[in-house]
Amino acid sequence: MSATPDLTDAERARILAKSALFNPPAAQLPDGRRDLVGLTREELADELAGIGEKPFRAKQLWHWIYHQGATDFSAMSSIARPLQERLAERFVIGRPGVATVQTSADETRKWLFRFRDGQEAETVYIPDRHEDRGAVCISSQVGCTLSCRFCHTGTQTLVRNLGAAEIVGQFMAARDAYGEWPSPRGETPRLLSTIVLMGMGEPLYNYENVARAMRIVMDGEGIGLSRRRITLSTSGVVPMMDRCGAELGVNLAVSLHAVRDELRDEIVPLNRKYPIAELIAACRRYPGASNARRITFEYIMLRGVNDSEAEARELVRLIAGIPAKVNLIPFNPWPGSDYRPSGREALERFAAIVQSGGFAAPIRMPRGQDILAACGQLRTDSRRTRPAA
Ligand code: SAH
Ligand code: SF4
Repeated sequence: MSATPDLTDAERARILAKSALFNPPAAQLPDGRRDLVGLTREELADELAGIGEKPFRAKQLWHWIYHQGATDFSAMSSIARPLQERLAERFVIGRPGVATVQTSADETRKWLFRFRDGQEAETVYIPDRHEDRGAVCISSQVGCTLSCRFCHTGTQTLVRNLGAAEIVGQFMAARDAYGEWPSPRGETPRLLSTIVLMGMGEPLYNYENVARAMRIVMDGEGIGLSRRRITLSTSGVVPMMDRCGAELGVNLAVSLHAVRDELRDEIVPLNRKYPIAELIAACRRYPGASNARRITFEYIMLRGVNDSEAEARELVRLIAGIPAKVNLIPFNPWPGSDYRPSGREALERFAAIVQSGGFAAPIRMPRGQDILAACGQLRTDSRRTRPAA
């Protein structure tokens, strides 16, 4: 059951139009100091110019903040003590606060991060089962305005967008927890080497902040993740998919989940605005899609709802010619959810049909289910502190 069944598209659009109400808190702290995390290089240089420092200082600070992971100016050994002190009077290098952290039996770890205004979002680290590396699943919003029927986050009406500092801050805080910044001997981090924007929220409804955060993460003099190591998952905000491809060029994952508009309208309500044909057309024109960089179609397997052989065949027909793979995700239940996961047999039959259509179709076994960290299980108790209208 969705918590917002009475929201019409028009009402939802009105909420989005008022999205200024959903903005993150300003970079200024109550004590007047400014958080440097989340600023672009140019903005960082401007801040430093404001205290009479030359542009090379921005480069130096960028390196300390994003390459070394420093959170304290006094650790910045290439900067003289008096300047360290002046910086500390005016600026901070922020991190979200850790409200709770839980580690699953399968080593998946979930943080509940608390931001400066008290709002909260979840981040999940998913270690690779076979290799010494893993992915960090990052949230883009507190809650979500879209209310997909199978998604726990969707039962929480949007509280607000996360700011760039909060988005990049989730990754940096996760790196802090694993000691994953370059060691003094120059060893580079390995564990936290991939980002998936698949946590809470619809990243393409918070595009500006997400783009700013991903540009910071991709900057070669800082964290330096290649765009190939970043995957953005969208429920299908078609116009923003074009921008995302042209401007960021990160890997794209599309939450398809149904092959007929009638069913997709019901389980992914955004489909009423951007139906399947438009969504698939946007995938076909997504720049950089190739066999080496395939688009991922996510398909949640709901028992008796979307898991028939006929639907598998229709899926193959729909995506024919797109360099793509299909992730089959057995539905992950959450308290109060009203679907059941497909059985093993249905999963395997569906996968076999998609594979014989020429697409890889791995079945994604849930990770971190015991701590409600699997896909679609994230939800916080954050509430809106002021009315939306
Ligand atoms: N809003 C974006 C990204 C976050 S959701 C999107 O929808 O793509 C990340 C993925 O988890 C999506 O594919 C989503 O459909 C899937 N998901 C949501 N609820 C789920 C559940 N209960 N079980 C399994 N996957 C789920
Ligand atoms: Fe939002 Fe994605 Fe959940 Fe749908 S699946 S409600 S778009 S977070």
